[in-house]
Amino acid sequence: MTELAIVGAGIGGLVAALALAKRGVKAKVYEQAPALEAVGAGISLTPNASRVLEGLGLYDFLIENAEQPSANLTRHYKTWDLLIDIQREDARGEYGAPYYQIHRADLHTALVDALEAGVPDCISTGKALEHIEQDVGGALMRFADGSEAKADIVVAADGLRSVVRKQLFDARAPHYLGQIAYRGLVPRASLDPTWHSDESQNLIGPGAVFVSYPVCRGEVINFVGLAQTDAWVDEGWSTPATKEEILERYEGWHESVADMVNAAPEGALRKWGLFGHHPLPAFCKGSVALLGDAAHPMLPFFGMGAAMAIEDGAVLARCLTELGKPSLALKHYERLRMPRTHMVQSESAKGGERLQSADPDAMNRMTVRNEDSLGLFHYDALHMTLDL
Ligand SMILES: Cc1cc2nc3c(=O)[nH]c(=O)nc-3n(C[C@H](O)[C@H](O)[C@H](O)COP(=O)(O)OP(=O)(O)OC[C@H]3O[C@@H](n4cnc5c(N)ncnc54)[C@H](O)[C@@H]3O)c2cc1C
Repeated sequence: MTELAIVGAGIGGLVAALALAKRGVKAKVYEQAPALEAVGAGISLTPNASRVLEGLGLYDFLIENAEQPSANLTRHYKTWDLLIDIQREDARGEYGAPYYQIHRADLHTALVDALEAGVPDCISTGKALEHIEQDVGGALMRFADGSEAKADIVVAADGLRSVVRKQLFDARAPHYLGQIAYRGLVPRASLDPTWHSDESQNLIGPGAVFVSYPVCRGEVINFVGLAQTDAWVDEGWSTPATKEEILERYEGWHESVADMVNAAPEGALRKWGLFGHHPLPAFCKGSVALLGDAAHPMLPFFGMGAAMAIEDGAVLARCLTELGKPSLALKHYERLRMPRTHMVQSESAKGGERLQSADPDAMNRMTVRNEDSLGLFHYDALHMTLDL
C-alpha cells in the first residue's frame, strides 16, 4: 500500500489529509509546532472553498461557527460613500455554497477534530522538517528532532517558507512585496453599530485598504489594514503593532477606522510584512508535490489564499485516489492546479493595485474585475471532471 506523508498541519495540509481520509487513505501529517495551537485571526472562505469544506463534513460546524456576510461593501476611504455593493445573501443559491468568514483558529481546530475522528493520532507535532531527498520510489524526510521518516508520496503543505520548496523546487527566499498587514480583533459590543453590521466593509484609499468583518459567531470584528510601505517588516503572525502606528498610517481616513483601532484591547494588535514567491514551473517532482502557500502564496486582496490551499487539497486527494500510478496522479494534479492558482495569484495582485489606487472613485467608472466577475466561485474541486 502507498505510504503518504503530508508536511505541515495548516489549512491546506489538514484539508488534504481529511479529503484522503474520506476516501479511505490514511496519510501521516508532520507539523513543526510543538502543539496544535489555535492561532491567527479572520479568514475568508469563498464559496469555492466552503463547498469543499461542507463536502468534507464541516457543514454543521460552519453553519454554527462561521459568519455569512450579507454583503461585501467597498467604500471611499474618506467619505464612506458606497463604491461597490456585492450582495452575498443568496450566495448558496447562486454558487451552491455560502461565502463564510471565520476565525482561522476555529477552522483549524474543526479540521483537526474532523481528521482525528476518522484517523486518530495521524498528526505528529514537534516534527520540523529540515531535509528532504528523493530516492527510488519515494522520499526520505529528516526532522529537527533527529528522527527520519520515509514515504512513497510526500505532500509539502509547509507554507510560505517551505523547506521542501527551497530544497527541491526553488532555492530563492520569498521576496518582500512592499505591503504591511495590520490586524486586530475587536469585541463587537465596544463598537458603534453604524459601522459594523453583518456586512464586510472594505474602505479603499491611496496606497491602502481597511477591511473589517464579523467572526466568532458575530461577537468579534476582525480588521485587517493592508498598506503599501517601503519599510521592511518581518513576516510572522506574532509581531505586536501599536495603535499609534496604525492611526498614523490611516491618518485622514474615515472615523470608523480610528474607532475600530481605538476599541481594540491593548496588546491585541499585530502586523506582518507580506512576502511572495515567483510562479513555479512545476508543483511536483517525482514523488513530491507542493500544495497551498508552499506552491503559490498570494496577496490577500481576493481573500483566496486559504481557498486555493483548500481546493488543492481536494483535487490532490481525488487525483491520488481516482487516477492510476501515484507519480502520474501528482503530475495530473499539477496540470489541473497550476493554471488556476497562477491566475488567482496574478489577479489578486492586480486587484490590490486597483483597490489601493490614488483615485478610489475610479472604481465607479471601471468595469468590475474581481473574484465574482472572474467566475472563481464556481470551481467545484470535489465534483468537477478531472479531465484536462
Ligand atoms: C500560524 C498561522 C496563522 C495564520 N493566520 C492567518 C489569519 O489570521 N488570516 C489569514 O488570512 N491567513 C492566516 N494564515 C495564513 C493562511 O492560513 C494560509 O495562507 C492559507 O491558509 C494557506 O494555507 P497553507 O496550509 O498552505 O499554509 P499555512 O496555513 O501557513 O500552514 C503551513 C503549516 O506548515 C507548518 N510548517 C512550516 N514549516 C514546516 C516544517 N519545516 N516542518 C513541518 N511543518 C512545517 C506550519 O507550522 C503550518 O502549520 C496563517 C498561517 C499560519 C501558519
